[in-house]
Amino acid sequence: MDINALLRKHLINIKPYSSARDEYTGKEGVFLDANENPFGSASKEAFNRYPDPLQKGLKEKLSLIKGIPATNIFLGNGSDEPIDLLIRAFCEPEKDEVVITPPTYGMYQVCAEINNAKLVSVPLTKDFDLDVEGILSAISGNSKIIFLCSPNNPTGNSLQKSDIITVLENFPGIVVIDEAYIDFAQHESYATLLSKYKNLVVLQTLSKAWGLAALRLGMAFADEQIISILTKIKYPYNINAATQKLVSEALDNEKWKNEQVHEILTLRDELIEKIKSFDQVEKVYPSDANFILVKIRDAKKIFDYLIEQKIIVRDRSKVVLCEDCLRITIGTKSENNSLTEALSNYFDK
Ligand SMILES: *Cc1c(COP(=O)(O)O)cnc(C)c1O
Repeated sequence: MDINALLRKHLINIKPYSSARDEYTGKEGVFLDANENPFGSASKEAFNRYPDPLQKGLKEKLSLIKGIPATNIFLGNGSDEPIDLLIRAFCEPEKDEVVITPPTYGMYQVCAEINNAKLVSVPLTKDFDLDVEGILSAISGNSKIIFLCSPNNPTGNSLQKSDIITVLENFPGIVVIDEAYIDFAQHESYATLLSKYKNLVVLQTLSKAWGLAALRLGMAFADEQIISILTKIKYPYNINAATQKLVSEALDNEKWKNEQVHEILTLRDELIEKIKSFDQVEKVYPSDANFILVKIRDAKKIFDYLIEQKIIVRDRSKVVLCEDCLRITIGTKSENNSLTEALSNYFDK
């Protein structure tokens, strides 16, 4: 597949902003090129120098952890950034289409709408699997990107591998697999397929399992051609220096991440058992993530009641195929107990 043939025409020859630090990459020198403050910063720690626009150090570290060459890694301000950049790169406004499979992560639709791309919506089956036939018959020559989310938010399940492969083999544009919850799943990342499918983009994030949501660090893994397009159109300094430094330190602590994931999975099983024991609960859907989707009578009323108790879950009851569903993040043992006690009190009334 020729990626440049999918690219919006005006981007083919566009020249990215050349930053001061692109011209000289050495660390030592008298830096009079970027109009920075030579004395330091008003903050305690010094942040007066612009950060590395290509985040080379961070990519090297991630490359080792993920087993993916640094040249196949793009870093964004959260994985929301590559979602937006991919649409900006490939979708001509009012003409090209973004395919989504609801119920799924809301940012695909929001970014498509902001960029005025057309939206093609092919709902999941009632078991929350891909409707592959539906997808293949809904797409057109203008379908540039399909967003698949596995494990899926808000349903929690992983999509079937054979379905994903069929889409990869047959979709004429970019296939994005959002793996925000991959650390909690039992199966390996689809990044292993990158060399086989030049149109595959795998998104991951440090916001969930790594516990770094506030630092905003998302990753896109893809063929070098796609990485170079994203790099060309991003803001020059999209990952700030504090994030580059703190994330780089956190990556030395993969053991902590693995232990927390293990703990969360144990707490998830406990919470599922407890929640299933309430008669009013119709179903707890199987989860490959750090949250569960619960089908429950009077979901909206229970959501409001929980808010009164200062327990905040996510009301998904208005979402297609999620009628009467709440999405509940796995908390600490005591947070989960607060939730189940509040539910007990509510049902006893
Ligand atoms: C949380 C989430 C993200 C957001 O990740 P950021 O890196 O924090 O922007 C992306 N995709 C899905 C499916 C998510 O649930």
